[in-house]
Amino acid sequence: MDAEQKKTLIQALAGTVIAHAEELTALDQAIGDGDHGLNMKRGFEAVLAEADALAQKPLPDALKAVGTQLVMKVGGASGPLYGTFFMALGKEVNDAPTLAELSRALAAALAATRARGKSEPGQKTLLDVLTPVLAELEAGIAEGAADLPARLKARAAAAAEATVPMRAVRGRASFLGDRSIGHMDPGARSSALMIAALCDALAAAAPAEPVRPAAVAVGA
Ligand code: ADP
Ligand code: MG
Repeated sequence: MDAEQKKTLIQALAGTVIAHAEELTALDQAIGDGDHGLNMKRGFEAVLAEADALAQKPLPDALKAVGTQLVMKVGGASGPLYGTFFMALGKEVNDAPTLAELSRALAAALAATRARGKSEPGQKTLLDVLTPVLAELEAGIAEGAADLPARLKARAAAAAEATVPMRAVRGRASFLGDRSIGHMDPGARSSALMIAALCDALAAAAPAEPVRPAAVAVGA
């Protein structure tokens, strides 16, 4: 991945969070304290301001730097969680990962995020999007799927929607008990937005490029 491609992905990620800040705030007003949109916007504006410098870094360093910015600037519960995810991903990934290597690094980053939040899928959090999307990625790789970005984006949207009937057992929304039921989790929505933006950017960069079995088979 060259600097231009990295910059495109950083802009896609930050751009969608910033563009949807009001929606994320509204979701957090329903079952939290209404700061998720502003928290995330502040963090990703800091990331966007550094997009050129970040894009010049090797992938592991760029991801670690994004994670550090999110920890410093987002705050709330989501800042340390997303920050941990990106920092752990940066620690686990190499500069030119195959899909299989990327998916292993994502699994490790997800495990670090679960540990940070002392949380598991099913508790109405961002894990309820990140976990099934990683499972979809693993399944898509195993099948040699040619339409991975579209599949991951659809899985993320469905998974965020599936948090609506859940009862929150982690984070501020858990204070509401049964009253948290019937609302989409703000962190699940922000995760789905970021995944959708990354998938769109990747699909635009490499339209319908089939997965190369040789690359997939590494370590599989
Ligand atoms: P805060 O709840 O501190 O105001 P935010 O509003 O920025 O922080 O983020 C709320 C989101 O963080 C929730 O919607 C949920 O997805 C996620 N979250 C909160 N606590 C946890 C946790 N322990 N594990 C995983 N995700 C969590
Ligand atoms: Mg909040």
